[in-house]
Amino acid sequence: MPEFDLLVIGGGPGGYVAAIRMAQRGLSVAVVEKERPGGVCLNWGCIPTKAMLRSAEVLETVRAAADYGVFAENLTFDYATVLQRKESIVKELTDGVASLLAANGVTTITGHARFIGPTTVEVHEVGPAPLGPGGPGYAAPPTTPIRRVSGRDVIIATGSVPVHLPVPGADLPGVITSDGAFGLTEVPGRIVIVGGSAVGVEWASLFAAFGSEVTIVETQNRLVPAEDSDIGAALGRSFAKRGITVLTGSMVAAIAEADTLRVTVEGAQARELAADVVLVGVGRRPNIADLALDIAGVATDARGFIAVDEKLRTSAENVYAIGDVTGKALLAHVASHQGLTAADVIAGHEAHIDYTVIPAATFTHPEIASVGLTEDAARAAGHDVLTARFPFAALGRAKSFGDTEGFMKIVAGQKHQEILGVHIIGPSASELIAEGALAMSMEATLDELADTIHAHPTLGEIGMETALAALGLPVHIAPRKR
Ligand code: FAD
Repeated sequence: MPEFDLLVIGGGPGGYVAAIRMAQRGLSVAVVEKERPGGVCLNWGCIPTKAMLRSAEVLETVRAAADYGVFAENLTFDYATVLQRKESIVKELTDGVASLLAANGVTTITGHARFIGPTTVEVHEVGPAPLGPGGPGYAAPPTTPIRRVSGRDVIIATGSVPVHLPVPGADLPGVITSDGAFGLTEVPGRIVIVGGSAVGVEWASLFAAFGSEVTIVETQNRLVPAEDSDIGAALGRSFAKRGITVLTGSMVAAIAEADTLRVTVEGAQARELAADVVLVGVGRRPNIADLALDIAGVATDARGFIAVDEKLRTSAENVYAIGDVTGKALLAHVASHQGLTAADVIAGHEAHIDYTVIPAATFTHPEIASVGLTEDAARAAGHDVLTARFPFAALGRAKSFGDTEGFMKIVAGQKHQEILGVHIIGPSASELIAEGALAMSMEATLDELADTIHAHPTLGEIGMETALAALGLPVHIAPRKR
């Protein structure tokens, strides 16, 4: 007899949300987590970076205070306090998750789970998490077995870990991943960031605000290559204005240690760079090491992520997988949504997951957010595409904020005017994208968005104004020349 109806391995946003949903369905649930609850999202990802980026934003705002008629003398910052603030937010939220699990009657077991049967794991004690500039940020390897635990069904929610850079010198002290960046106790003088995707550009934005000399090396021809090409180009221009050097079409070939780190960049913008810290943000791989998936009979896909169907079922009976470990979209809200879906499927409800409408946000300055297809992807998918852009500079609210950089771009179908994608760079992009996501999930058309009365003066008016521009009826920008 299994001890629990459901055994969840991993207490990140996928795992803990699945556990809560399942417990609310009246089933007995255990979560095995080797670190603090909340996973990468609460401990090493979404929340700590955003807490620190907020400190950077406050600093930048106060620096510009005189533009608003406010005068702040002798402005300084204390990076130790920035880190302390981050840590107290993380602690409050991770404690909150632990209480929510307890309040829902979920049993939490601390340790590293490893399969020893199809739906049974052995839990091993783990050492304390090493955290330093070069540290991986994850608990030390499992040692002593503590107990066995089994579930009638199992959900694997073990997340992902950073990919290491396969070049000479990548293991030198001072070469860190995003996890190691939290261990920096001082702002680095010169930092080279390898990879211009979401993780890399967020750290770039943060360290630039705190005064680092930042260089980003990106193999593609623009930053944030997964975003619409207009957005990547705009972020590149904005970063250049803020003094961030962006070397596109280039790659780091080697790192050597002299008095500082010497970084050899090859490609379109080849050069040698001196750096105090090299931050590697080149992607993430599934966290399946030492899980013994073969014992459970769980298959991986060609990229090494756990293969799942639309009901989150793996190749093994009664074993499900959710979150980053499935490699679908490495985002916390996708992990949580997969968690809810898997729990419902296991509880016998009709449920499946649809990945068509997934908003995503990158919390740089300026912020980026998007949902749906980029213009290039829409064209590649065979759509006859209509696009329109509307600048924040034409919105009264953006002017009053003093933050007018950026625009919204809508990609729509030419014939039926259905919204295929919404892309934003500019103030509050991460909040504004919710309207685009709702519009897309309701299969709204341009005129439905344009006909929705939006409160004035708000940044949200940009959705309506961009839709009007797409319809060829812009009110607050000049019409396109015919
Ligand atoms: P994770 O959050 O990775 O949790 C997995 C958990 O499983 C971990 O706690 C781990 O300790 C545990 N575990 C692993 N193996 C075992 C085992 N064998 N036994 C027991 N426990 C185990 N996403 C967003 O949506 N928005 C953002 O702004 C955002 N910012 C990010 C910033 C950074 C720097 C990074 C790195 C990521 C960011 N992400 C963001 C991505 C987000 O953190 C992940 O998509 C999300 O955490 C995935 O959730 P998960 O439940 O799949 O796994």
